[in-house]
Amino acid sequence: METGFATKCIYGNGRDFEKDGTGAISFPIYQTATYAHPAVGQSTGFDYSRLQNPTRQQVEKVVASLEGGADALAFASGMAAITALMELFRPGDHLITDSDLYGGSIRLFDHVSEKNGITFSHIDCTSEDVESYVRPNTKAIFIETPTNPMMNVIDIRKMSGIARKHGLLLVVDNTFMSPYFQRPFELGADIIIHSGTKFLGGHNDTLAGFIVVNSQELADRLRFLIKTVGSGLAPFDSWLILRGIKTLPLRMEKAQANAKAIVSYLLSQPRVKKVYYPGIQGTAGYEILRSQASGSGSMLTFEVESRELALHILRSTRLIPFAESLGGTETLLTYPLTQTHADVPEEVRLKNGITDRVLRLSAGIEDAKDLTDDLEQAFASFGKENGNAG
Ligand SMILES: *Cc1c(COP(=O)(O)O)cnc(C)c1O
Repeated sequence: METGFATKCIYGNGRDFEKDGTGAISFPIYQTATYAHPAVGQSTGFDYSRLQNPTRQQVEKVVASLEGGADALAFASGMAAITALMELFRPGDHLITDSDLYGGSIRLFDHVSEKNGITFSHIDCTSEDVESYVRPNTKAIFIETPTNPMMNVIDIRKMSGIARKHGLLLVVDNTFMSPYFQRPFELGADIIIHSGTKFLGGHNDTLAGFIVVNSQELADRLRFLIKTVGSGLAPFDSWLILRGIKTLPLRMEKAQANAKAIVSYLLSQPRVKKVYYPGIQGTAGYEILRSQASGSGSMLTFEVESRELALHILRSTRLIPFAESLGGTETLLTYPLTQTHADVPEEVRLKNGITDRVLRLSAGIEDAKDLTDDLEQAFASFGKENGNAG
């Protein structure tokens, strides 16, 4: 039975899990490391939980169905997923990556993968001639869109065209939009990455990561890796992600509505110099975003008039915590300079516009007015605390 997206969030590709005869509606947590074999040479399909576990298998099925992939693999974190992905490459290989990526991905590429003999061209995939960076040893293009934290929109179909022409893999980290708003396989991607910690889990309570593939050959290579390197997602964490995904559509809609309310507020606040949100009509990536995604999401970045004001806001919000991460029920404010992007080289950071005046906000699902009121009281109290200017 072909179902809609919200139904897939609950049942994956079908209601096939009540196999234990109890009729349990919630998928059980199979908290076991190993499995008894009926006889020598026979297996129940489960041998040892590093290789496979029923609860992990269930969350993998659901995530594969949401992205329309052939298979998905669940890892202990987003970075564990990207680390396993890098094992598909060998010394001498070259990758093209966008320069405005999650800081942890850049750290992995520059400090771990480089040491293993893989080289990178970190470029601006929205403005540079990507094709001119393709070398005989180039194996893949790795992007996030919208980018983190500057919210630039990369044309996935265009990147796919270049990848096809040169026989490269197109890898899209789809964490920011989730499959609810953007499905990269339909636009020509070969591999999709998720930090399941973010929107899929959605409650700021567990870490997880996914690699979703659209070919059995890639799935087989990655299954070999997950069993060998041992970074698969634990049963209880798999269950938390399964539970989080059930409300993904509701959370995405509410968080997006809150983000739009916050964008409107920030655009009217004279001390805000710039708001980066791909859903603002007339901004650079707006038309591309509309052609490849069904929403603009709940992530936004804004620049205030001074470093002092940025620091003041981070210590003055009463409701919104100053914390890393995104995509959960709680609205969070992040300071990319010292948090998510601290390991990005300074010249790259400045070129991308990540200054000491830039704040990133992930809208949660609280009441919008409480969020804008909180920001307003933080702006209004600037210069008034302890009688000095911030
Ligand atoms: C958080 C994040 C990651 C890393 O995921 P973890 O679960 O924190 O390891 C990768 N990519 C993006 C876009 C992220 O936001």
